[in-house]
Amino acid sequence: MDGVLMTLPHAAPRGPAPPGLRLEWTDSPEQERLVADADFEPGSLVLREEFLLRGPAELPPLAMFRPVPAEVGTVEIQGEPGFPRAVIFDNEHMKLLFEFLNSETEIQQEVLAMQDSMHPASETMQSTTKVAEWLISQELPWLEGLDFLSLSRLLRLFCVNSHPCKAAGSTSGLLKWGTMINHSCLPNVVYSSVESADGDAGVDGCEEGRFEGHFRACRPIKAGDVLGVSYMKLQVALAPLTQRRRMLWYLKGFLCECDRCRFEAANGDPSRVLPCAGNATNCAGKMKMTRCLSGLNSLGTDASDALDGFSCTSCGSRAMREQVELEAELSHAVLGALCARWSGLKSAKEALWELQARVEGELHHDHFAVQGLRLLFLALEADEILKGKGEHDGQQWLRELNRVSCWHESIRPGQNGDLMLMLSFKSLAPALRKLKGEHGKSDPESLEALDRSASTVLSMDDAWDKLPE
Ligand SMILES: [Zn+2]
Ligand SMILES: [Zn+2]
Repeated sequence: MDGVLMTLPHAAPRGPAPPGLRLEWTDSPEQERLVADADFEPGSLVLREEFLLRGPAELPPLAMFRPVPAEVGTVEIQGEPGFPRAVIFDNEHMKLLFEFLNSETEIQQEVLAMQDSMHPASETMQSTTKVAEWLISQELPWLEGLDFLSLSRLLRLFCVNSHPCKAAGSTSGLLKWGTMINHSCLPNVVYSSVESADGDAGVDGCEEGRFEGHFRACRPIKAGDVLGVSYMKLQVALAPLTQRRRMLWYLKGFLCECDRCRFEAANGDPSRVLPCAGNATNCAGKMKMTRCLSGLNSLGTDASDALDGFSCTSCGSRAMREQVELEAELSHAVLGALCARWSGLKSAKEALWELQARVEGELHHDHFAVQGLRLLFLALEADEILKGKGEHDGQQWLRELNRVSCWHESIRPGQNGDLMLMLSFKSLAPALRKLKGEHGKSDPESLEALDRSASTVLSMDDAWDKLPE
C-alpha cells in the first residue's frame, strides 16, 4: 500500500446538556457524569436523542466486509471458571466502523469526544487488540490508511459506547448524551431504541426512519441524582456482586464501583445465603456474607476471603471451602440460565431440573440462585399464558410471583424491586395484569404493589429493548 495515512480529526467540545439534565465533574474517579436537573416519575422519559452514528442493518455483500473470524476475536477467560466463559468480539462494531469512516468530519469529531478506556489487562482489551491486528494484516481496501493505533482506539470506543438499536434491525449506534450515563447495578433509568413516528422525509422524498435512544426513569429520580443505566441485561442486576463485577470486568473492562457494589463489598451481599454448615451443633441457622472484598478472584482476592465472608447468624460457624466453591458454581450456572434464550417452559425445565434440585438442596431459599430460577420459570410460563398455550394455574402463578417479589423486597428494601423484576422479563407485567383480572379478587395475598409496578412497566411501551448480551 502506498496509502496516505488517515489521521483522525480532533474531538469536538461537548456543549450544554439537554433540558432537564446537567453534566457534573467528579474528582475521584475523575470523570464527567450526567445528573438530573429536575425530578422524574417512574416511567417518564428522562432523555431522548437521535443516534449520532448508526451502523447499517447489513454491510455490503463483498468479501472485504466479511465478519472477523470467531477464533480471532474470542478470548477465553482464564483463572476462574464461571459465566461467561469467553469474551467474544461483537461484529456489529464493524458496521459502526464502516459508518464512521463514511461520516462527515463533524460527526467523527463528536464520536471521538467519547471515552475509550478499558483496563489494559482485561480480556475485552485483548479481544479488540487482536481484532485490530488481524484487520490491519488483511490489508483491506476499505481500511486503507488507517493505522493500528487509530483502529484499535475506534474498536475500543465502539465497545465502550455502543447501544443496541434493535428498532433499526440487527445493529447498534452511538448516542452523544446517552453514552455519558454511567453503569449502575441499581439503575434509575432503562434504555430502549425507538423508531420515531415523526420521521423526516428523506432527500429522495421517501420516508426515512428516525431512530432514537430513549432513557426512562425506572425509579423516582430527584434533581441532583446521578443517572445510572445497566450496561448488562437487566437479569444480571438480580445476581450477586461477584457475578456482576465479573461480567462487567470481562466484557466491558472495568471494575464496577457503583454505590450498590461498594456497599455490598463492605457490608456483605444480601443475595448470598447458605444453610449453616455447623453440623456438629445441628444448627438450623443460615450463613450470610459479612463482606466480599473486591468480589473478583483475578483482582487479588481468593476463595479464603469468601470463607471469611460467610458466617452463621445463629452459631457463628464459618462456611466450608467445598460449600463456597459449590455456591459459586451454582450461581454462575443460574446466571447463565437467566441470560440464555429458551424456546419454552418445557424445554427449560427439562434442561434445568437437575440444576434446580441442586440449587434448592445446597443453598438457602433466600439465595439468588433459588429465586432466580423461580423467576425464570415464572417468566417462561407467563409467555405461554399470554399466548394462550397449555394449562396453567393462574392463582399459583400469582402467589409465586408475589413470593419472589417479597424475597427481593426483603434483601433490598425500598428499591423498587418489583419494577426491576418485571423489567428483567418482559412477559411478567402483562401476565400479571391478565391473571389479576381473572383471579385477583379471590387471592388472599396482596398484589397491589406488584400491580402498581406492572402499570408503570406497561406504560413504558418502548422500554423493551434488551441490553447487550
Ligand atoms: Zn455495580
Ligand atoms: Zn449455625
